[in-house]
Amino acid sequence: MPASSSEVQELLAKLVAFDTTSAKSNLELIAFVKTYLDGYGVASTLIPSADGAKASLFASIRPGSGGIGISSHSDCVPVEGQTWSNDPFKLKLRDGKLYGRGSCDMKGFLACVLASVPLFASRELKEAIHIIVSYDEEVGCTGVRPLIGRFGSDLPRPRVIIVGEFTNMSVIDGHKRLDAYRTVVSGREADSGLPQLGVNAISFAAELIEEIDRIAATLASHEINNRFEPPFSTLQVGTIKGGTAPNIVPNTCEFYWQVRSLPEAEPDFVLKRFKAYAEQTLLPRMQRVAPTASIEIQGRESVPAFLAKPGSVAVSLALALTGANAASTVSYGTEAGLFEEAGCPTVICGPGDIEQAHVADEFVETAQLDACMSFLSKLAEKLSS
Ligand SMILES: [Zn+2]
Repeated sequence: MPASSSEVQELLAKLVAFDTTSAKSNLELIAFVKTYLDGYGVASTLIPSADGAKASLFASIRPGSGGIGISSHSDCVPVEGQTWSNDPFKLKLRDGKLYGRGSCDMKGFLACVLASVPLFASRELKEAIHIIVSYDEEVGCTGVRPLIGRFGSDLPRPRVIIVGEFTNMSVIDGHKRLDAYRTVVSGREADSGLPQLGVNAISFAAELIEEIDRIAATLASHEINNRFEPPFSTLQVGTIKGGTAPNIVPNTCEFYWQVRSLPEAEPDFVLKRFKAYAEQTLLPRMQRVAPTASIEIQGRESVPAFLAKPGSVAVSLALALTGANAASTVSYGTEAGLFEEAGCPTVICGPGDIEQAHVADEFVETAQLDACMSFLSKLAEKLSS
């Protein structure tokens, strides 16, 4: 028997009550999931982070090689700076919507997976179902990497991975790549009355940011892939900080910027062009005044693009389970590209809508959870018939 909606909601309430903001430990949530799975005779492997403050979980219903991995992340984005109508860590049902941090991204999916465990465990499955729960997805998809690294050694490599990120239960076979950078411009301080003695770090940072915008314009006019929105790679600056006082030529300025590239884009194109402009055009001008002036470019996070291969078994499976005719793409990054790179055909399909993720009063519709439960029970049926 598939679980009732109230069972799913009860599980979701428990998951939401753990404050698993990426900066915090997720160990209590993982312990809860492990104990829950133990109750159905399903053993879990925990893969701790280097500092031991977090862990991911891999659990197999019916052991064996291959199998279908159903994957979620346990962490969520912060609530700081957001105005919530209710306690974000207390799930609240109103008008068919379940409000709470992580309800959409992506504890709703995990609640559906856990609620389906009794059904999975009661079936004579022909192949394994593996439950995967990661951490630090929201900060560069770093937590799942050690787990994936163990596929084929002490963990089986799933034959298919379903990443349950919010897609309104539509089938997603691609997303862009993400690269984030920090750039630090170091110039030379001087009195603002004698600016020619200094190197204005903010002004040079501004020139670099103009170059970011020029690169963006080049990509917008040269690339086109209508499967993506927008149909080209994009880049933009996100934050900037610099200077000490209005009467001092600033000697430092730093800014963070991000690139979202089409899967087929040359991964280094943007960085190469940005670096060339920094080193060949700006640095000589800066160092003529202050030989120690510098522009430092640090890579922060990088999440590979995801593009399912033509005829992907993962996409075919998700299409069959949802009854959809075709797959589409999303404009956010996920762990899917990492699974695909590791040789697991992957698809993204899960409850909730991007508009409700990461915002104040995040919610998931109960109808979405119902649709996900029916997706998972069809999966159980398919694997046992
Ligand atoms: Zn997510």
